[in-house]
Amino acid sequence: MKEILHIKPVFKQMIWGGNRLKSEYGYEIPGDNTGECWAISGHKNGDDEIVGGTYDGWKLSELYNKHRELFGNQKKDVFPLLVKIIDAKADLSIQVHPDDEYAAKNENGSLGKTECWYILDCDEDAKIVVGHNAKTKEELRDMICSGKWDELIKVRPIKKGDFFQIVPGTVHAIKAGTLILETQQSSDITYRLYDYGRLQNGKPRELHIEKSIDVIKCPETRAEVSRSTEMIEDAKVETLVSCEFYDVKKVDLAGSASFDTEGIYRLVSVIEGNGEINGEKIKKGDHFILPSDYGKYTITGNLSLISSFSKEA
Ligand code: ZN
Repeated sequence: MKEILHIKPVFKQMIWGGNRLKSEYGYEIPGDNTGECWAISGHKNGDDEIVGGTYDGWKLSELYNKHRELFGNQKKDVFPLLVKIIDAKADLSIQVHPDDEYAAKNENGSLGKTECWYILDCDEDAKIVVGHNAKTKEELRDMICSGKWDELIKVRPIKKGDFFQIVPGTVHAIKAGTLILETQQSSDITYRLYDYGRLQNGKPRELHIEKSIDVIKCPETRAEVSRSTEMIEDAKVETLVSCEFYDVKKVDLAGSASFDTEGIYRLVSVIEGNGEINGEKIKKGDHFILPSDYGKYTITGNLSLISSFSKEA
């Protein structure tokens, strides 16, 4: 039986979070500093529940472990992707992530983190940190230890609809006034370089200077992203990125379009509007998984989606 797996997100309060996950998406959030909606996650630090249908109340990790046939019999030990919506009311710390090899060795076998950001909305003068100016590790260490953050980091303006691929070893930070949909490897390993001297419960959050210096690539590596667009009936389908870990597409639909899962399970988030999928109502803020054997489906309505699939075996 074909069944869509509807997901109930987990929310995280953060010192930099706000309340737009409630005001814009209608979620019941735990407080006015809610920074993250773990929209599709089987990670142990925020394992989402399936709502409705045969697997009502199951954790996604449990479903992945016991019914791997829904996930194309993928071989990864853990559900490999994590989709978040991030509401940055204030700046996030300046940070960097390890790759799979470094994380496996130094973080108890955890996955590394390649992530990508679709800018859902942002203030007119919003900016983002991607990349750094240190050409060597010595220069990097010197800039970090002497607090020359303005010299070190690359800050650039952003607008709604921009997209960034952040590979391991890239210095980055989401800044205030930004709402982002993030698709990433399912990892919670972040090395914090600088936190603007902020306090959380009266104490500064932990920094990870040596691990950061270990994993930051000098000179920086820039991720290549080439966006391409095709029309499928009434849908504009744009590939935002296709890398070794994931393929992420944005779909803008006004009318009707038919697709096929082609044996690949797909993660879908409705980011604008509403409509139906095979006659089932969907609206902005909904997240679901189409199992790999779901097959053909038709989406109708006026809506935008971000859809992704894992590219790992
Ligand atoms: Zn990050």
